[in-house]
Amino acid sequence: MERKRIYLSSPTMHGEEQKFVQEAFDTNWVAPLGPNVNAFEKEMEAYTGCGHAAALSAGTAALHLAMILSGVKEGDIVFATSLTFSASVNPACYEKAVPVFIDSEPDTWNMDPDALRKAFEKYPHPAAVIAVHLYGTPAKIDEIKAICEEHNVPLIEDAAESLSSTFKGQMTGTFGDFGIFSFNGNKIITTSGGGMLVGKDEAKIARARFLSTQARENARHYQHNVVGYNYRMSNVVAGVGRGQLLHLDEHKALKKKIYETYKKGFSDIPEITMNPMNPDGDANCWLSCLTIAEGCSVTPTQVMDALAEYNIESRPIWKPMHLQPVFENCDFIQVKEGMSVSEDIFNRGFCLPSDIKNTDEDMALIISIVRKQFGR
Ligand SMILES: *Cc1c(COP(=O)(O)O)cnc(C)c1O
Repeated sequence: MERKRIYLSSPTMHGEEQKFVQEAFDTNWVAPLGPNVNAFEKEMEAYTGCGHAAALSAGTAALHLAMILSGVKEGDIVFATSLTFSASVNPACYEKAVPVFIDSEPDTWNMDPDALRKAFEKYPHPAAVIAVHLYGTPAKIDEIKAICEEHNVPLIEDAAESLSSTFKGQMTGTFGDFGIFSFNGNKIITTSGGGMLVGKDEAKIARARFLSTQARENARHYQHNVVGYNYRMSNVVAGVGRGQLLHLDEHKALKKKIYETYKKGFSDIPEITMNPMNPDGDANCWLSCLTIAEGCSVTPTQVMDALAEYNIESRPIWKPMHLQPVFENCDFIQVKEGMSVSEDIFNRGFCLPSDIKNTDEDMALIISIVRKQFGR
């Protein structure tokens, strides 16, 4: 018999989701919009303190609308974190902007404020900055924000992985001109697929709702003055989100416990370092990751292969965008030439199974398999 699969991060449902979905069916508010969408937005506004929220079909859609609302257009330069998932950057390309990738700092693995300063010296007028809170660890977002303000450039926070993480007591996603969240299947809460665009400017978020519903002007006939999109979240999907949101804090506590369990489990192995926390923040620990010391003969691939033999899912660190063929013509800004922090993390790290349904036995098994690779 095949061993039960242990997942990286799979959906965890609780039952309340079905209640909200049932309501949608009972009232025939199946599509589109409806009370769950409005309520989910209000509940996310209350939870995050983001100001205003627009529920959308994906985090990627939210990023795309953030680009448009920031005025990003053809030929513009956009600064983006290199160490991230491609969905952070693709929406800049939808608008035919040109990404310039910014290296990470080792303290949080996120956009290095010093590299960002250097990028502004080379390209003084980017149209926007996209900063990510990778794996749920808050970036040095106050410094990044200060640099953006100094140059009067909109900051877009990709908080797809960091919903519920805070920096100096404030929720990630609420520092920038825009923030985005994702409810994709593997995120800390899921709607099966969905996202949200948030921001303090009510008119801009209202504009996002307008653009996300085909940009229909207020007229009885179908009047369109600008190009629209079909990006709105459906009322059924929003029902799932409302049910999940009730369990977000619980998911966060479980994710943190997973991180602590790994940290303790590897504490006597000097070659292993867990992914960093930001001392000014409180991370949701969406994915626990580790890096292997330079010069150690054990490779991430070797450990991931050993886990796979037990039907345990793990994953490489996001391959930096400046190393991707699709972005090979894009510039990359690092603090010291020839010393790419993001590439180093990619080469030496991988993501451990961080599913909140992992049992104590699952965790013990994973830890013992990893330890064995290091001769423990
Ligand atoms: C998941 C993710 C996205 C995209 O969100 P979707 O809802 O899947 O479109 C964007 N950025 C990062 C960093 C992500 O992890």
